[in-house]
Amino acid sequence: MCGIIGIHNHPESANLAYLCLYALQHRGQESAGIVSSDEGRFYQRKEMGLVADVFDERNLNELKGKSAIGHVRYSTSGESSITNVQPLFAELFGDNFSLAHNGNITNALKLREELKADGAVFQTTSDSEVIIHLLVRSPEGKFEDRLKWVLEKIEGAYSIVILKGTQMIAVRDPMGIRPLVLGQVKDSYVVASEGSCFNLIDGLFLREIAPGEMLIFEGMNYRSIEFKKPSRIRPCIFEYVYFARPDSTIFGRSVYEVRKLCGRALSQEKPVDADVIVPVPDSGLPAALGYAEASGIPFEMGLIRSHYVGRTFIEPESSIRHFGVKLKLSPLKEVITGKRVIVIDDSIVRGTTSMKIVKMIRNAGASEVHLRISSPPTRWPCLYGIDTPNRDELIASSKSVEEIRDYVTADSLEYLSIEGLKSFDSTGNYCDACFSGDYPIQPTDRKDLREKAKAHVACGQKAKSACGM
Ligand code: 5GP
Ligand code: SF4
Ligand code: MG
Repeated sequence: MCGIIGIHNHPESANLAYLCLYALQHRGQESAGIVSSDEGRFYQRKEMGLVADVFDERNLNELKGKSAIGHVRYSTSGESSITNVQPLFAELFGDNFSLAHNGNITNALKLREELKADGAVFQTTSDSEVIIHLLVRSPEGKFEDRLKWVLEKIEGAYSIVILKGTQMIAVRDPMGIRPLVLGQVKDSYVVASEGSCFNLIDGLFLREIAPGEMLIFEGMNYRSIEFKKPSRIRPCIFEYVYFARPDSTIFGRSVYEVRKLCGRALSQEKPVDADVIVPVPDSGLPAALGYAEASGIPFEMGLIRSHYVGRTFIEPESSIRHFGVKLKLSPLKEVITGKRVIVIDDSIVRGTTSMKIVKMIRNAGASEVHLRISSPPTRWPCLYGIDTPNRDELIASSKSVEEIRDYVTADSLEYLSIEGLKSFDSTGNYCDACFSGDYPIQPTDRKDLREKAKAHVACGQKAKSACGM
């Protein structure tokens, strides 16, 4: 769960990277960093905290040069500490080298053990550092060939930007699990996790970087190499459900439109008589609009969000999360009192937020509270870079929908089916493992999960979303 940015050939590269990180802040709030390159001489600034806290005019001015890469992070692999803050930096083959990675390398533990046995000394606990140690051990040759050799060895999800000497390189994994897009600002190129940041810098969206593609930027130009032929393309469907910003276009679709379509599908699948539809802001908003359009039930902003607190779920300490809901949301009695309310959110992870929201709406005088979720039950942890917790913390991995309804104290609870979620796209080419347990890449480092995932697939349920395992 991270955001990455790369700016090549712009006189204000660090400033642009900084602005783009602002627009990617929703992808990680734990730490932020930028490394810039002035003809191969590197400058860096990275720190725990939000983009606004990490950078100021003075330290941005020190980030000289025409190329810069940046990163916002929420730890999915490795602990939350300053040593893990990206971009990572090293000296390689007589050149400066820096790397920012979004995703999760699923065989990182195995590779780390092998590398340690070979004498590698790791400076961080982040999975991204294995790339640097593998590069050191790669057969001599051109840098891009050495990188290709490394990419053959790593499994999992990765969108990566690299600065090496005077080059900038961008790579997307062969399944295309994490998004990565290419844009342009005058004579400069921009690579970003999401295109929403282009609006901020007057950038032009050019295209997505293809699964298995490597782009090498040098001078005013770039080259494209297919480092691995994609066999199965599996972009993350959860980017549409929750993660990406609604003003981004990823995997060729507008995130906002997909969310609205999910809301429409939910209304058709799981209707209920009610007086008013209330979204959980901001994540439930587009789906609630879609639900309202399809059902004809009025839409009202019955929950007002304070924009001066971050996303509550994302706080690493669970003790902070517990009172976060009240800090963040406040009910609008004028809209709720005496009404049968449909509350719409994008997902339930642990159930704690949902329970507090249901209680908040009931306390504000609702006569009935019906919770509708615009994705299927989240039953399996994500191994590819989104911070869904372990199975035992995912409420839907151990409780049935009826038990969850009871826990969150709603009058009714319904989820969108997996077929409904995928109905926006006829290809079906998405990773949906957090809903189905159908992991597209073997969980090499997670034997426990591999056995469970196999058993699950073997359980024979036709609609995997209905499987309670
Ligand atoms: P819960 O009821 O599980 O405590 O919280 C549900 C809320 O968490 C939903 O509003 C949803 O938008 C949000 N959420 C779902 N998945 C994630 C995630 O991976 N990261 C973050 N930060 N929030 C999430
Ligand atoms: Fe996305 Fe879920 Fe697959 Fe993770 S498991 S990549 S969150 S669809
Ligand atoms: Mg939410």
